Amino acid sequence: MSIRVLGGGWYGCHIAGALLAEGHDVALHEIAGELFAGASGANPARLHAGFHYPRSRLTRALCQEHHDGFMARYGDLTRGVPVNIYAVAAEDSLVDFGTYCQVLAGEVSFVGIERPAEFGLDHVEGAVLTGERHIVIERARAHFSDVLDGQVQFGVAPGEDDGAAWDWTIDCTFCARDGRDVDRYEPCLMVLLRGPIDRAVTIMDGPFPSLYPWHEEQGLCSLTSARWTPFSKACGSREAAAAMLDSVTAEEIAHRADCMVESMARFYPAVRDDYEIVGHKLSIRAMPRSGADARLVDIVRTGERSLRVRAGKIDAILLAEREIKRLIAA
Ligand SMILES: Cc1cc2nc3c(=O)[nH]c(=O)nc-3n(C[C@H](O)[C@H](O)[C@H](O)COP(=O)(O)OP(=O)(O)OC[C@H]3O[C@@H](n4cnc5c(N)ncnc54)[C@H](O)[C@@H]3O)c2cc1C
Repeated sequence: MSIRVLGGGWYGCHIAGALLAEGHDVALHEIAGELFAGASGANPARLHAGFHYPRSRLTRALCQEHHDGFMARYGDLTRGVPVNIYAVAAEDSLVDFGTYCQVLAGEVSFVGIERPAEFGLDHVEGAVLTGERHIVIERARAHFSDVLDGQVQFGVAPGEDDGAAWDWTIDCTFCARDGRDVDRYEPCLMVLLRGPIDRAVTIMDGPFPSLYPWHEEQGLCSLTSARWTPFSKACGSREAAAAMLDSVTAEEIAHRADCMVESMARFYPAVRDDYEIVGHKLSIRAMPRSGADARLVDIVRTGERSLRVRAGKIDAILLAEREIKRLIAA
């Protein structure tokens, strides 16, 4: 079959590669000038194992289901984080530490930290060490550039009605072309810090920050925050989110970056001394119309021979592949 895949992020690259491997005639159309130009190249890239989702059993179950498949397929695109801490804030957390541990116990392994202060933590009720891994974006970009060599057209924004030449069109643009069943689009800020990349600190559970390794060779970490990363949680269209990102000023970005550092410094003061702000990434996240804390993926039929992927997290790419193969074979 001839298959056109739109969007060169994790979903488009993986699906194009998987269909190519099955012998289909595949072309990937990416509107930007490189792969991973969207959310896939502008997020902390934690390979979720469930630690982030004490509030959603469904999401934890899916993380655990997807994790091993992702590692079997793309384990060499990930790296371990020597010290990867999830800590529960002493105040304002939506769960207490006992509940957090109880929810995760038996589902995923972790080691309790007896004295959080010895790990440089402050104002936390408790903390655990996890084996959560980091997906290395540069390795992923290089891998897919290789696998899809010659199949990608960059700078191409296909029109709505030019799919006739293809047996199938698979829209992996993170709902950039089609906003049906998207609750909202969040224009997002991720701050880049230069500093130690051997540790990650995530504060749970609520409007808290997370420091995560991001680029090993460049010594960069990402800093995100449920409070400060989204510029808005009320954009009803991708155009509105894009317009907001276009109009954001350098001062606003610097202010948010400082706020993120300060909010992390309350729990992990070393972020002020050992790290320095060196840049940022902007992206747009399409949030599904589903359970508030669920991060799922689904494949929507948008026409007789067209499908749209609505992504949640990266790890669900294998599920998306299975479902797409089933639908196009039917
Ligand atoms: C702040 C933030 C933090 C996150 N943290 C994590 C995390 O730690 N772990 C995790 O698993 N997930 C995380 N996510 C979610 C993750 O980023 C997404 O699940 C994933 O990147 C979606 O991949 P995608 O390929 O669907 O979309 P994208 O990576 O956005 O790819 C879509 C591509 O389509 C292209 N495009 C747009 N319009 C068109 C068009 N008309 N024609 C052709 N191409 C087009 C874009 O340029 C882009 O390259 C996070 C997201 C954000 C925003």
